[in-house]
Amino acid sequence: MASSFATQDSSHLADCPTQPTKRRIVRERGQREVFCGLTGIVWLHRKIQDAFFLVVGSRTCAHLLQSAAGVMIFAEPRFGTAILEERDLAGMADAHEELDREVERLLARRPDIKLLFLVGSCPSEVIKLDLGRAAERLSAKYLPKTRVLNYSGSGIETTFTQGEDACLASMVPTLPATDPAAPANLLVVGALPDIVEGQFKRIFDELGIGPVAFLPPSRSDELPPVGANTHFLLAQPFLGDTARVLESRGAKHVSASFPFGAEGTTAWLQAAASLWNVDPMLFRKVIAPSRERAKRSLAPYRQQLEEKTVFFFPDSQLEIPLARFLSQELGMIPLEVGTPYLHRQHMEADLEHLPLNAQLSEGQNVDKQLDRCLAAKPDLTVCGLGLANPLEAQGLRTKWSIELVFSPVHGFEQAGDLAELFARPLNRQERLAV
Ligand code: SF4
Repeated sequence: MASSFATQDSSHLADCPTQPTKRRIVRERGQREVFCGLTGIVWLHRKIQDAFFLVVGSRTCAHLLQSAAGVMIFAEPRFGTAILEERDLAGMADAHEELDREVERLLARRPDIKLLFLVGSCPSEVIKLDLGRAAERLSAKYLPKTRVLNYSGSGIETTFTQGEDACLASMVPTLPATDPAAPANLLVVGALPDIVEGQFKRIFDELGIGPVAFLPPSRSDELPPVGANTHFLLAQPFLGDTARVLESRGAKHVSASFPFGAEGTTAWLQAAASLWNVDPMLFRKVIAPSRERAKRSLAPYRQQLEEKTVFFFPDSQLEIPLARFLSQELGMIPLEVGTPYLHRQHMEADLEHLPLNAQLSEGQNVDKQLDRCLAAKPDLTVCGLGLANPLEAQGLRTKWSIELVFSPVHGFEQAGDLAELFARPLNRQERLAV
């Protein structure tokens, strides 16, 4: 089934409102309630073990990072903030000179840093500090010991998962080239917890798919090669820029549903298996035990969540694949699925399994969307932290969308945990009602 779209301006719902033939999309521009791209550092600094993220920003940026990722889990921090003072912002000091000094101090004290990201922020963008030029200059100085890259985590017109997209996109030009005579290789793109990466690796091995590499890698000296014989599977739905630069290096995108739940994970693996001409019998045999476990883990949640309505505010860009999971695998009814940006090609496979009467909205006008949500009275609302308390106060049950990015939710073994994240707010409501 091909996806069919109609925008709010030009569209109609079909004559029979229960059986629309076109998907309704509302596009909005207005005030938004989202975190900025610096948030991605919270999970990226745990993933790339010899990297350091140096935010070039304000005290606000430092506070955001400290409160979001302030729990020290490593002996030495893997992120920090070079704070732009008033003199820098007023153009009275040479910010480049000061940045060079900070980087020199940092690398002298931390010889373990092999990859340094200069992360731009709203203030560095406002004063037009050219971090690309700074990264080139500093790379020339510190290579081969330390490579310096840059990307923007600014909150101006972005949403929080774009930080990871920008970070991975900045790495792509540094990936080595594949040997054109080598057989096809698979690249899985998107930061996954190590445990999930290990599970996928095992399945690909058993299916005979490979060589397989992951972006981002755990260490900067394990950069995966890329070229015309690379096929890449997105593990996260918010990597539009990374996909674009991979394609510019000749790699080919493998279209698939995202690996959430039993069906999403099966479809995602199947897409790679088809390319590698894996025997369908072998495919079924390899995935059957994990798929069955996933389905069993979902069954009790299906009983609880079936027929419950859900409303997504645009936040993490995971909204469409998660709405597909809730609808297809748990029987929930998505009323509105908001997404900051709609990448039709990357979302195509998930949209095919999303009911046509689930309204899509792209962008945000938060006041209008709040009105729609309150009128719809969904059983569950998935939204950013800033909206959760006001909606709870209005009697709605909410799930913080950021939690879905921080938790291991991909793959067969995590399917039950993913469903549980959506069931928990409703369980809490029941417990409070007793
Ligand atoms: S990058 Fe912008 S939005 Fe993010 S913390 Fe800094 S000032 Fe705030």
